[in-house]
Amino acid sequence: MTLPIQTLQTLQTLQTPCYLIDKSALQTNLQQAARLRALSGARILLALKCFASWPVFDLMREYLDGTTSSSLFELKLGREKFGGETHAYSVAWADHEIDEAIRQADKIIFNSLSQLARYADRAKAAGIPCGLRLNPGVSVSGFDLADPARPFSRLGESDAARIEAVIDQLDGFMIHNNCENHDYARFDTLLTRLEEDYGHLLQQVRWVSLGGGIHFTAPGYPLDALAGRLRRFAERHGVQVYLEPGEAVAQGAATLEVTVLDVLHNSKALAIVDSSTEAHMLDLLIYRQPARIEPNAGPHRYMICGKTCLAGDIFGEYDFPAPLTVGSRLSIEDAAAYTMVKKNWFNGIHMPSIAVRELDGQVRLVREFDYQEYVASLG
Ligand SMILES: *Cc1c(COP(=O)(O)O)cnc(C)c1O
Repeated sequence: MTLPIQTLQTLQTLQTPCYLIDKSALQTNLQQAARLRALSGARILLALKCFASWPVFDLMREYLDGTTSSSLFELKLGREKFGGETHAYSVAWADHEIDEAIRQADKIIFNSLSQLARYADRAKAAGIPCGLRLNPGVSVSGFDLADPARPFSRLGESDAARIEAVIDQLDGFMIHNNCENHDYARFDTLLTRLEEDYGHLLQQVRWVSLGGGIHFTAPGYPLDALAGRLRRFAERHGVQVYLEPGEAVAQGAATLEVTVLDVLHNSKALAIVDSSTEAHMLDLLIYRQPARIEPNAGPHRYMICGKTCLAGDIFGEYDFPAPLTVGSRLSIEDAAAYTMVKKNWFNGIHMPSIAVRELDGQVRLVREFDYQEYVASLG
């Protein structure tokens, strides 16, 4: 294992591929989160499954209350590297994990009534509050793949009568049914529906987490209206509200820096870069979306391609002001949310190093990955 390194770089000396986290961009999102927190009274926890780059947690913890997790390892990372309030959630805890999860957590959230029945006593014995994931059966999500309210969903319990039967074991609920929701009116409608169907249960607990997926950092988002709505919700039901943003906080906070290795022509101009969609920006393939490269203007159009053997390893097509040549540097946007957490060693291509652009503009290389780590990941 290479030890963490902390060397100052310039953009030009930075060896690619490299994820470059921009603390100023991150801070802009964090300031919105802090404003929402102050106006609404909600507590805000970072969803580690979206973004878990702990070299910038020093900045993030100034603005957020803690973390929420989707596994034991995320839970431990949140406890160890972020601090603050540490919520533990998993779609299914295993017997060999549960005791450690209870030791690390401030609150533990079960996905099903059966998991609650199996483990609640142990959590109570340790004095850890228990929550249950509530699935209201309605959601905002543009993608079936990411829709918690899809048919046959395993994500949370919906039957109010069955939940009420165990309400004395519950301190709170977690509801996550928004995904990339930029539309405050739709959020408001969903929340009203939740209150109609489950209000009598919400009254009986101390806290309600409304999950992630609310894009309160999007340009023009009516943050004040959202804050007022959350405050009224909290007062009406007598609960502490939590939010668990991932994407809203990490959006736009990193780029993937790459270098052109070859330029080809096959009816179109093709540029091959030292990176890959599948290995370094996997969500592009999963959700079939192009990467974003700015300013995307000029007379020279190229298809930007990855260097794995996957035929469809393509970032997209973009216009450039000047021809691309071997050695040209490109910056691919939106490399923070659901991107760095999914990087992998497919094709054995070099895993991007990680650099941080500090608030003063200095670029600091914080991590490199080498052959030994590739080997270690395989056996
Ligand atoms: C994914 C997830 C989040 C974060 O969602 P974003 O869309 O990234 O804000 C929060 N809570 C739960 C339970 C999740 O599964």
